[in-house]
Amino acid sequence: MEQKECNLCGSTANYSCDYNIDSVFLQCPVCGRYELIGAHIQDINYNHLASYLAYHAFINKSHYGAEYRYNTFLNKEICDSYNKEFNEGNNTHGRPVHIDNDIIENWYPKTLSARIDMILLYINNHTKHIGQFVNFSMELIQSVFFIDRYDDNTDKNMRSEDDRYDEIEYIIQYMEKCEYILKSSGPSDADFYDIKLLPEGYRRVDELQKYSSYGKNALVAMAFRDETIPLREAIRKGISEAGYNAIFIDEVQHNEFITPELLKYIRDSKFVVVDLTHKNNGAYFEEGYAMGLGKPVIQLCQKGVDLHFDIAQKNTIIWETEENIPQRLLNRIKATIE
Ligand SMILES: [Zn+2]
Repeated sequence: MEQKECNLCGSTANYSCDYNIDSVFLQCPVCGRYELIGAHIQDINYNHLASYLAYHAFINKSHYGAEYRYNTFLNKEICDSYNKEFNEGNNTHGRPVHIDNDIIENWYPKTLSARIDMILLYINNHTKHIGQFVNFSMELIQSVFFIDRYDDNTDKNMRSEDDRYDEIEYIIQYMEKCEYILKSSGPSDADFYDIKLLPEGYRRVDELQKYSSYGKNALVAMAFRDETIPLREAIRKGISEAGYNAIFIDEVQHNEFITPELLKYIRDSKFVVVDLTHKNNGAYFEEGYAMGLGKPVIQLCQKGVDLHFDIAQKNTIIWETEENIPQRLLNRIKATIE
C-alpha cells in the first residue's frame, strides 16, 4: 500500500485504488479503514463524514487480530453479499459496513450540547483507566470535536487553521467551565492535546449512559439469517424514517457472543427494537439488558407466533407482512420515544 494524506482528516494514511469500481481504500489512524467510491463523492458532506468515521473507526490493532471491517458507501446489498462470503470463509472483500448520507446525518449532533455529550462519551470510551489523559492529534481533535474543516462541506475552501484552532479552544474552555475536563498544560506550541475527564465529566457520562442517549442510535435485536433480510430492511426503514440510525449487531461485529462491544451498543442506544418472531435467545437477552438500563424497548412479532411468558403482555407490534412494518414502527417511535 502507498501512503498519502487522508482525504478527510489530513493524517498520513495507507492508500490503495481499485480502478475497476473507481474506489479508493484508506487506512487512516483517525478515520480507520474506509472506502470512498467515485460515484458517491459529490454527495458527501466531508465535514460530517470525517467526524462520523472518527467515532466509528475500524482500526487495525494488532493485538486484537486483523480488522476486516471497513466503512463504505457501497450499497447495502453488496455489503450483505460480501459479509456472507466472509462468513463462509472468503475474506477477499473483508467485512464492509454500509454507510450513507442518511446514516451520517441522523447521527450527527444538531446542537452544541449534543456535541459536548458526544465528546465526553468519546473521551470516556478512550480512557482505559479513570483519570488518564487521552492524547489527541490535531487531526483527531478536529474530527472528534466536530470542527468543520471546510466552509461549504465539500472538499473545497478549507477554513484557516487559526479559525479551526480557535473553535477547538472555545469548546475546551466551555467544557472546562462546566468542570467536565482538564487539558494538560503542556508546551503551548505542542501539536497535540492531552485531555482527561474530571469527576463532573464522569457524572455526566453516567447520566448519559444510564437514563438517556446522546445519539440517534437504535439497536435492533433479531435473528439474522438470509430469510430475515426483508424483515431487517423493513425495520431499518421504519427507524431511519423516524430520524434514527438502526444498528444491526451482525453488521458491526461478527461473532454471536455477548461481548462488551454489544453491551456498549445497547447502552449507547436511545431505544432498542426487538423482533421476537424467531424466538432468538440473543434477542431476549438484549431486550432484558436494555430494560434493566431503563431503555425504551419496542417489540415486534409476526402474527401467529406464540410469545414467551410475560413478554406477551407487553404492547407489541404484531405484523403479518413486512410491508406495513416501516409505517407502524415509525408511528410507534414517534409516539413513545423522545
Ligand atoms: Zn483520516
